[in-house]
Amino acid sequence: MKCKVDKDLCIGCATCTILAANSFKMNDDNKAVEINPPGDDAEALKDAKDNCPVAAITIEE
Ligand code: SF4
Repeated sequence: MKCKVDKDLCIGCATCTILAANSFKMNDDNKAVEINPPGDDAEALKDAKDNCPVAAITIEE
């Protein structure tokens, strides 16, 4: 599994870093950065993806 953040879309709300703390972190520009391979299960990744307010997260199986 692989996750990706579109940094052009990310508004830095940090929701994904709370819902999937082992798969996303904030960088110095206050944008989320993916951690690969993701450190969370598929359910947590889906939760992060579904709760991103700007749909910036994509997950590849
Ligand atoms: S949930 Fe979306 S907008 Fe918020 S920090 Fe993560 S990628 Fe960025």
